[in-house]
Amino acid sequence: MDLVLFGIQGSGKGTQSKIIAEKFNLQIFETGGELRKLSSLDTELAKKVKSIIESGKLVPTEVVMEIVANFLHQLPEGACALFDGIPRSDDQQVQFDALMKKEGRSFMGLTINLTEEEAMKRLTTRRICTKCKEIYPAFYDKPVCEKCGGELITRSDDTPDAIKIRLSTFTEKTLPVINDYKSRGLMLDVNGRESIGNVTKEIFEVLSPHFKCL
Ligand SMILES: [Zn+2]
Repeated sequence: MDLVLFGIQGSGKGTQSKIIAEKFNLQIFETGGELRKLSSLDTELAKKVKSIIESGKLVPTEVVMEIVANFLHQLPEGACALFDGIPRSDDQQVQFDALMKKEGRSFMGLTINLTEEEAMKRLTTRRICTKCKEIYPAFYDKPVCEKCGGELITRSDDTPDAIKIRLSTFTEKTLPVINDYKSRGLMLDVNGRESIGNVTKEIFEVLSPHFKCL
């Protein structure tokens, strides 16, 4: 069984994604990461993607799905995938579901629940290290980075207006996808308001009955 992970920005999705993948031996599909991998290859798909990106256009959903199919075909026999950040809209969901059906793959969704207000609070108060780029939540109260001693500042793209736009895009485009999977009995969820460690613990509890991958 594959896993499709959902979470608003600030929910800790990226961090949990890596922890879950390691625990349940899942191969992460993250669109940005796959695009970067393709850029070093010389396949037909890589050439197609390169020409789209060089033209300054967004990669269309059809092509994103070709990238997903390519990823699935390269998985070792019996291996399972963790989809991080896809599908993020109705349009992507229709094509993603069709592809998974065609490939004969079953999946469950998992949502790390956090409201827009809570996400807003987290994102406006976090700081980033000017040297190593480590991100620190509001409750980290020291003035410097614990890894490298660098100065901590608020991220320049973390203005309340910019954050609001990113969060409302999730609510408008991705929440309907989550609700649809929920109505079809394909969605698990955990409380994202807890600490990273507690969220991980709850995730392991809800996923354990479902995920035993090779
Ligand atoms: Zn640092």
